[in-house]
Amino acid sequence: MLFRLEPNTPRFEVFRLLNTELLYFLEHSVTANTFNQALFTSSPVGQACWDNTKTRENFESIFRELHVAGHIKKQQLFEAVRDHQDLQAFFHTPNRDLLGFLPQPCSDALKTISTHLYCATKDLIPIITAAGGANITAHFNAFRDQAINGNICKTCGMKELAAFRAGVPGGDQWRADYDHQLCKSKYPIFAVHPDNLIPMCDVCNQDAKKAKDLFKHKNGTNRLAFYPYNEEAKNFIDITIDNLRDPEPKIKVEWNTHDPVTLDKLGTWDEVYEIRSRVEGQFRSLEQIIEDEIHPRDSAHLVSRISDEARLKNADTLKRKEWSFWYQKLFATLNQIDIEPFIAKWEFIHEQGVDGGEFILNPT
Ligand SMILES: [Zn+2]
Repeated sequence: MLFRLEPNTPRFEVFRLLNTELLYFLEHSVTANTFNQALFTSSPVGQACWDNTKTRENFESIFRELHVAGHIKKQQLFEAVRDHQDLQAFFHTPNRDLLGFLPQPCSDALKTISTHLYCATKDLIPIITAAGGANITAHFNAFRDQAINGNICKTCGMKELAAFRAGVPGGDQWRADYDHQLCKSKYPIFAVHPDNLIPMCDVCNQDAKKAKDLFKHKNGTNRLAFYPYNEEAKNFIDITIDNLRDPEPKIKVEWNTHDPVTLDKLGTWDEVYEIRSRVEGQFRSLEQIIEDEIHPRDSAHLVSRISDEARLKNADTLKRKEWSFWYQKLFATLNQIDIEPFIAKWEFIHEQGVDGGEFILNPT
């Protein structure tokens, strides 16, 4: 996460209820020999899970597979779920092979019921009523309220979560997808854990992360990840600019810490969400950034505007304006280094009306 989530971030009550129901079901399945309604809570949530055919069938499938696997596996699964409800602790010491003891059919059935709870059961009217009437769009609206997290993706700071439309009631506004920090395929027991689901921009969630494992690189090496509620990357980032005399100076994102654990988490954040390549892609032409963001009248105006843009943004701006963190970082770097060669180039280009490549051949 570029920015940690705010302490008053609301958890989605529907997920809390479904997560509790799943745990209750697994606990009561340990000693049960037949699948029946006694495996569900006597609350409206238990009743709704029982009454909804597809949800009930998926619960029945996992019950059947666990029954075949035997009592010890049932007990192991219940304990694995019960003992890993604290996600902050899990991020601190991840158990990367949490469900390795489960036979494949059990594992598959667990994924199916978990995914179904997340994709379908969460939208059942009796469940939403039991949660006080707030559906996922209501939760999303509360999550992105400017007084809480705002509408900019906390993971990257580059994109809005979802566009606001004027004149559209809150319940009909578009919403962002929720990212499973611990992906459903690898960690199905957290599919409806209220701390595991975070609204994220579509680039972070759909283009970059997909089903990547936060705690294991695809090359097999173990890694750690920022816990989104109390850890963030923003204080460990530098923007550097190399070869300011070149036609296209190279803008890079670097880490300003030597702490191995923080570096590990920064590496995970970067690999999972492709942070550096996205920033360096956005910043691929300094000349165009100056033109688009500053549109200077002359070199004095350019210098004074760089200094303006280098000022720290306030927290509210960071919560509502795409890229504001990153552009401020870039201009702060420009404000600190000797940009004389760049200004000379800018003046040359401006006066001659030629492209930047000419300057290196014919410096004035
Ligand atoms: Zn994002």
